[in-house]
Amino acid sequence: MQGTMLYGPRDIRFEDRPEPTITKSTDAIIRLSATCICGSDLWPYRGIQPIAQPTPMGHEYCGIVEDVGREVKNIKPGQFVVGSFATSDNSCVICKDGYQSSCVHREFMSTAQAPLLRVPLADGTLVATSDLPPKELIPSLLATSDVLGTGWFAAYAANVKPGSKVAVVGDGAVGLLAVLSAKQMGAERIIAMSRHASRQKLAREFGATDIVTERGDEGVARIRELTNGIGADSVLECVGTQESMIQAINSTRPGGYIGYVGVPHDVSLDGEKLFFAHVHLHGGPAPVRRYLPKLIELVLDGKINPGKVFDLTLPVAQVAEGYRAMDERRAIKTLLRP
Ligand SMILES: [Zn+2]
Repeated sequence: MQGTMLYGPRDIRFEDRPEPTITKSTDAIIRLSATCICGSDLWPYRGIQPIAQPTPMGHEYCGIVEDVGREVKNIKPGQFVVGSFATSDNSCVICKDGYQSSCVHREFMSTAQAPLLRVPLADGTLVATSDLPPKELIPSLLATSDVLGTGWFAAYAANVKPGSKVAVVGDGAVGLLAVLSAKQMGAERIIAMSRHASRQKLAREFGATDIVTERGDEGVARIRELTNGIGADSVLECVGTQESMIQAINSTRPGGYIGYVGVPHDVSLDGEKLFFAHVHLHGGPAPVRRYLPKLIELVLDGKINPGKVFDLTLPVAQVAEGYRAMDERRAIKTLLRP
């Protein structure tokens, strides 16, 4: 088969790769229905997170099970499944506490931009639907695999509740689905920070009540204006830069909560400022597995349509163009069809 490899900055190749096989008795092999490019894939793509050698890419996936190892009990060939970017046994103390993305047996997935995928710890990692889903729901089901689950965790970690006043920092796919998640959790006011017309429009569709285009101190001032002068109850940080973290901390009211899910790059916080900000900070790699059953159900019931964040669909063989489009911000998120 062919799969996606990153060779260096902006050098993506779709080339011959060994077909994955069952290597452990707890593995499954799935034939992908769809995969996609993550905002976090752009860090190594741009060379900001350097790679030591050519690296296979992709960690968002859904598809049909082809084969399972002999110890796999719950997942069966022929089922449609969705899994997280982090594998989990779903049975250790950390998993039982809902933090499957830090499972003691965790591995990070990284070969999903291809037609076939090996998934370790299949029983703990994958969630199967009871029937094969209709084709038109595949983009939204794929979104549950990472981007929606991550936005959902941002809202959960930021303690979004009915009536909350929420601000979302970041208008990438995760930020937009963080808006959708906050709406689902009953937020009363959802302020999306965005300067891009197409992203503002989607944010409004997903439930944003206000758009703030200013950044830095001006952005903070605008958010205070919209929140009785004190800052938001919950701020969802979905970027991972120094600017976005400071934006989030300064936009939160004392006693409020920040859910941070953007993978940090060169972020350092001033301990004294943090101390006097008086905010709760909760974030990390989203435990998507915790939310998969619920998010899949919301999609199958037609209650949410997170697949709208995919504004470009390409055959996986054209993956390099998918990266370029996202790098140049011509696309919010690229869906790849095997
Ligand atoms: Zn575990």
